[in-house]
Amino acid sequence: MSANIRYRGSDYDCWDSETVLDSLLRHGVAFNFSCRKGVCLECMMRTTAGAAPAAAQAGIDKDLRKGGYFLPCLCRPLTDLTMEPPEATKVYGRAIVVAKKRLAPHVCRVTLRPSAPLYYHAGQFILLRRIDGLARAYSLASVPALDRNLDIHVRRTPDGHMSG
Ligand SMILES: Cc1cc2nc3c(=O)[nH]c(=O)nc-3n(C[C@H](O)[C@H](O)[C@H](O)COP(=O)(O)OP(=O)(O)OC[C@H]3O[C@@H](n4cnc5c(N)ncnc54)[C@H](O)[C@@H]3O)c2cc1C
Repeated sequence: MSANIRYRGSDYDCWDSETVLDSLLRHGVAFNFSCRKGVCLECMMRTTAGAAPAAAQAGIDKDLRKGGYFLPCLCRPLTDLTMEPPEATKVYGRAIVVAKKRLAPHVCRVTLRPSAPLYYHAGQFILLRRIDGLARAYSLASVPALDRNLDIHVRRTPDGHMSG
């Protein structure tokens, strides 16, 4: 048996043995994802028809859960689902790049100025989303108490879409 996943106007079958993310990748759909364990939130989507199982909403903010947000990497659908990308204004804040410094041949420090202060602890990461929708996770290298700007250290991945 399989469930039908509708995404951006196309239908994809999702086998019992796979997650929604596995299914989309099997069908060759270009899709944001990284950890595949429900940690990075990079693949987060929202349902517009059908409901994702509660297990696919683990770790997501309560209001977003109510709005049908879920993680395709954890989602083994019990019913057919129609899903759309997150609403950017609900999930993301704006930031501009204010500086870039090469720290090593393949590592660049990128300094971002968020439009509103971000409260965070050492060890946390942000999800950086480009204007075209490409999103990747980066660990914060700045010190929260010292600077309102956010530093990330980006290592260039060969053929990487974001890090390049
Ligand atoms: C929590 C978290 C924190 C991170 N922090 C940092 C950080 O501080 N600094 C940093 O440089 N990076 C960090 N990353 C990695 C970062 O999110 C990107 O994955 C990385 O920059 C590469 O993205 P890209 O778009 O350049 O490469 P992509 O275009 O995504 O991929 C480049 C190559 O890798 C392959 N690839 C992509 N994803 C996978 C996968 N899941 N498994 C196997 N192969 C794959 C592609 O096929 C391609 O050949 C972090 C990731 C996570 C999950």
